[in-house]
Amino acid sequence: MNATEELEQVAKEVSVCTKCMLHHSRKLAVPGEGPINAEIMFIGEGPGFHENEQGRPFVGAAGKFLEELLGKINLKRTDVFICNVVKCRPPGNRDPLPEELEACSQYLERQIQALNPKAIVTLGRYSLAHFLPNAKISNVHGQAMQVRGRLVVAMYHPAAGLHQRSLMTTIEDDFKRLPELIAKATQVRESQEPAAPEKSEPKQLSLF
Ligand code: SF4
Repeated sequence: MNATEELEQVAKEVSVCTKCMLHHSRKLAVPGEGPINAEIMFIGEGPGFHENEQGRPFVGAAGKFLEELLGKINLKRTDVFICNVVKCRPPGNRDPLPEELEACSQYLERQIQALNPKAIVTLGRYSLAHFLPNAKISNVHGQAMQVRGRLVVAMYHPAAGLHQRSLMTTIEDDFKRLPELIAKATQVRESQEPAAPEKSEPKQLSLF
């Protein structure tokens, strides 16, 4: 199965998945979307009301803000892959539960494997926790880290900027650094040994 077929297969499985309780409250599952050759993968938390209605990620106010942020670094949403850690809407937009995150993580991992992006941008604490369970977003936002051989850049969720205006500038500043972080990390990766083993401790790139 090639990468495109694998992504399609994940979307198909997600649409009928019953691995966690969230399938009871979903209208449409939201597997994620973007080109197969996307160099950057953005991973948010979970679908909200509008996403649940449309089956697409980041289509509400937070999505509009994300598009604005992408525009500031000369990217369009169609240039990147966008998805969430859980593919079905938690009722009332509550936080996803540990067992729901665990149940859905295999789909996310398969998407990462298929896309093999140059960089993963985590949006919010649940997405960050998938890669760095003990990291605090207030400490690591805007930083690039190597996790299991992949470049992970932590960002606040765009919705956080909409709810807490003081974070908006922080989010904008972090986004502006993204091209530079990816370029530097690519240089570092190319000059280093092959990817760290799967179980090695995540390490922050000292350059940034
Ligand atoms: S959230 Fe994920 S694991 Fe849970 S039902 Fe939806 S697709 Fe399946």
